[in-house]
Amino acid sequence: MKLEHLTEGKILKYLAMFFMGLVLVTVLVVFVIKSPKQVMDELVRRGVEELLVVEEDPKDVMRVIFNGTGTPLAAQFASQSTVIAINDNIYVFDVGPRSNANLVMNMTLEPAFVKAVFISHTHSDHVGDLGQLNLASWVRGREGPLQVYGTETVQDLVDGYNLAYGPDRMHRVAHHGADLIDPEVGLMEANIFNTDDGEVLVYKDDQIEVSAFYVPHDPVTGAVGYRITCQDRSVIISGDTALMDDYSYANGADLLIHEGIFHQVNTRIARIAERVGKLRMMQIFDHINHYHTNMIDYEGEPGLLSRMEGIDVDMLVLTHIIPTRDNFLVKRKLKEFISKSPVETIVVEDNDEIHLPLGSDEIIVK
Ligand SMILES: [Zn+2]
Ligand SMILES: [Zn+2]
Repeated sequence: MKLEHLTEGKILKYLAMFFMGLVLVTVLVVFVIKSPKQVMDELVRRGVEELLVVEEDPKDVMRVIFNGTGTPLAAQFASQSTVIAINDNIYVFDVGPRSNANLVMNMTLEPAFVKAVFISHTHSDHVGDLGQLNLASWVRGREGPLQVYGTETVQDLVDGYNLAYGPDRMHRVAHHGADLIDPEVGLMEANIFNTDDGEVLVYKDDQIEVSAFYVPHDPVTGAVGYRITCQDRSVIISGDTALMDDYSYANGADLLIHEGIFHQVNTRIARIAERVGKLRMMQIFDHINHYHTNMIDYEGEPGLLSRMEGIDVDMLVLTHIIPTRDNFLVKRKLKEFISKSPVETIVVEDNDEIHLPLGSDEIIVK
C-alpha cells in the first residue's frame, strides 16, 4: 500500500490495532513473569499428556493405517504392516521390521487395544517386529496373550518369539511385578489355519470378520491374502503374491491393497549388476521377479494393469513396491500405471491412513 493512499481514518485504525496488540503482548508477558510456575506446569502437563493420552477412534469408521510400506530392498521405509482400527479395536496385518515403532509413535493407536495379528507369510519383512509389538501391547495393558493367526509356519514363529523373549519377560516382571504385568499375558498364542479348501473365515468378533485365501508366492509355503469386512465396508490385503490369473475375488471390495514389482526395471538392474560384477545382487534381482506381481504388461508378459480391467474395486492401494519407489525409473512407471489403471489407484507411504466410514461409500485418504 502506498503512503499517499492512507486517509486519516485508516491511520487511526492502524494505530488502534497496533496499541491493542501491544497491550495484549504486555498482558501476556506480565502473566508469564508473575506466575512462571503455573505457566510451566501447564506446559509440562500438556507435553506429558501428548505422550500418554491416545485419541479415541472416530465412531464407526474403519481406519486403515499403513505402518510399514517398504521391502528389504527399500530399508528407508518400515517393512510391511497394515493396521485396521475400528471403535478402539486394533488388528495388525503383518508386522515387518520397524513397523511397531510407527504404531507406538502414532498417538491415535493404543497398543493395549491390539486384538489380533494376522500373518500373510513368514518372510522376515512381514514378521520381524512381532516380538516388539507383543512387548508394547503387553506392557501397555493388553488383556490376554497376543493372538497370532496364520498358516503352518506361524506356529514356529510364535514358539520362537516366546522363547527368544523369555529372558526379557522375566526381567520386566521382576522389575514391575506380576500384578502389573502378568507374565502369562506376555506370551503369544498361535492360531493355525489352512486354505486347502479355498477362502476360509479365520476370525470374527463384534467389529470385524477376517477370511484368508491362498496366494502364489512359491517357494514360500502357506502364503495368504486377507479379506477384512466391517459391516458394509471391506478391504483386501494381497500379501506377497505373484500375478494371479483372475482378480474377480476382489469384486465389491472398497480397497485392494496390493504389492507390485516392475519386471522391466528390475531386470535392467540385474543386467547392470552383472555388468559391474555384482553377481550376487544380479541373481537376487533375477530371482525376485518370479514371485511378485508384475505391474505393467510388456512384450507378452502380463501385468496387474490389464488384470484390473473390469474388476469392481473402488480403490487400488499399492504398497511393497520393488525395486524401491524412490527410484526415478520406478516413479515414472508408477505414474504410468496410475494414469492407465482402470481402477482409481494410489501409492501409500508409512503412516498414511484411509478412512472408510460405515454405512457410506466414502473413501477418505488422509
Ligand atoms: Zn515381502
Ligand atoms: Zn514374501
